[in-house]
Amino acid sequence: MRHIAIIGSGPAGYYTAEAAQKHYGDDAAIDIIDRLPVPYGLIRFGVAPDHQSIKAVSRRYEKTALTEQVRFVGNLSVGDDVSIDELMELYDAVILATGAPHDRKLAIPGADLPGVFGSAAFVGWYNGHPEFTGIAPPLDGKHVVVIGNGNVALDVARILSKTESEFSGSDIVAHALEALGNAATEKVTLLGRRGPHQIAMTPKELGELGRLERACPRVAQDDLPEEGADAMLEPGMRKSVTFLREFAAIPESHRADKCIEIDFDFFASPIAIEGDGKVERVIVERTELDADLRSVGTGETYTLDCSMVVSCIGYRTPPIEGVPYEHGRGRFANDEGRILPGLYCVGWARRGPTGTIGTNKPDGAMAIERIEEDGGGDSGKPGRAGLDALLAGRDADIVTFQDWKKIEEAETGRAREGSPREKFTRIEEMIAARK
Ligand code: NAP
Repeated sequence: MRHIAIIGSGPAGYYTAEAAQKHYGDDAAIDIIDRLPVPYGLIRFGVAPDHQSIKAVSRRYEKTALTEQVRFVGNLSVGDDVSIDELMELYDAVILATGAPHDRKLAIPGADLPGVFGSAAFVGWYNGHPEFTGIAPPLDGKHVVVIGNGNVALDVARILSKTESEFSGSDIVAHALEALGNAATEKVTLLGRRGPHQIAMTPKELGELGRLERACPRVAQDDLPEEGADAMLEPGMRKSVTFLREFAAIPESHRADKCIEIDFDFFASPIAIEGDGKVERVIVERTELDADLRSVGTGETYTLDCSMVVSCIGYRTPPIEGVPYEHGRGRFANDEGRILPGLYCVGWARRGPTGTIGTNKPDGAMAIERIEEDGGGDSGKPGRAGLDALLAGRDADIVTFQDWKKIEEAETGRAREGSPREKFTRIEEMIAARK
């Protein structure tokens, strides 16, 4: 019997469990450990609440979770309740699927002012992540600046712009729905330090901005390259840029009906955030591209008055003490998934925060290949029985998958009309709901 511990119950964690099952069949016992009492990581807390079709992949993970070989060990924090060294003593293979839940730091003056949020916090707030439920974003101002030109920046701009009825069918948490309903937002500026050909936005997500009830995107015609240059782009990018061209062609008469403008400010790099005890303005430097398509400041600056800033400039995997780490790339140091024999990583913890949910799938098979190269495990370690014995002497309150199903039932039961669930947003509430 191979004893495998997977740390993290998001997509990478469950795809890895699936790959281990496929490879070892009944000859593997797999524990999926999560610091939260609820599974699915990015699916629950990262994917936008109005993208339910993407979230539906959790049904596939549930199939894996309900098999004999797989066990969910929720509410157990690796590093606090149990160490990596202890897990490596107990299991033949320990696989880090911890994702990249921390923000890449916005390294400009004023980035710590109240009213500046990283996307992990803001996305976590509207998705009901217990760590960010209480951040109370100041939505009483007319202008929000969103930094970054990736899909997360798009998610944030869209969520800030939707009407209450557009959230129908979503699982946006009640506190966010109410706060957004009372928001005074009239303008969302998306700051991109490079140009339309350098966006990291996918067409489906970008296209959605053009179909919002009360918001309308604005792209300056002058920022767009010659149309012929789009031919050099790969097809997905070309489609995205075509949407930008459509946005640039929206007539002013159409804008008159819309009360929120989503302004794409290209070639614009934030250089400071200022305000008296809170965000009041962003100082932006105009940029141009150098021969390697990097953004270079031109020295020309301007000011955007605003009351909130959301920085969507990418994520990092938090380091774990004793585990080799690549600081530059914000992920564990690894060779195709192997950190060292017995310790592996998958998903964003291995590759960094790029790609879609499905991009994580091959990582599971890759980790199993590394385990096999290292001897395949089965070394007589105690696995889950050993973990249970260790935790018996500690103050751990484990949440099982059966407990999660009770939590889920309670969340479904208290959902507002048309919504799949009303999430619990505090750990104590989650734990209480399993009783
Ligand atoms: P991302 O795709 O890496 O985009 C980060 C953006 O931030 C880029 O535009 C980047 O510009 C910009 N940036 C980085 N550092 C900056 C700085 N110091 N100042 C100004 N701008 C800066 O990251 P993400 O949006 O967080 O998305 C993470 C991953 O999740 C991506 O693979 C994304 O596609 C995926 N995702 C997918 C969906 C979906 O499919 N619906 C939804 C959300 C997220 P440069 O290009 O100039 O570096």
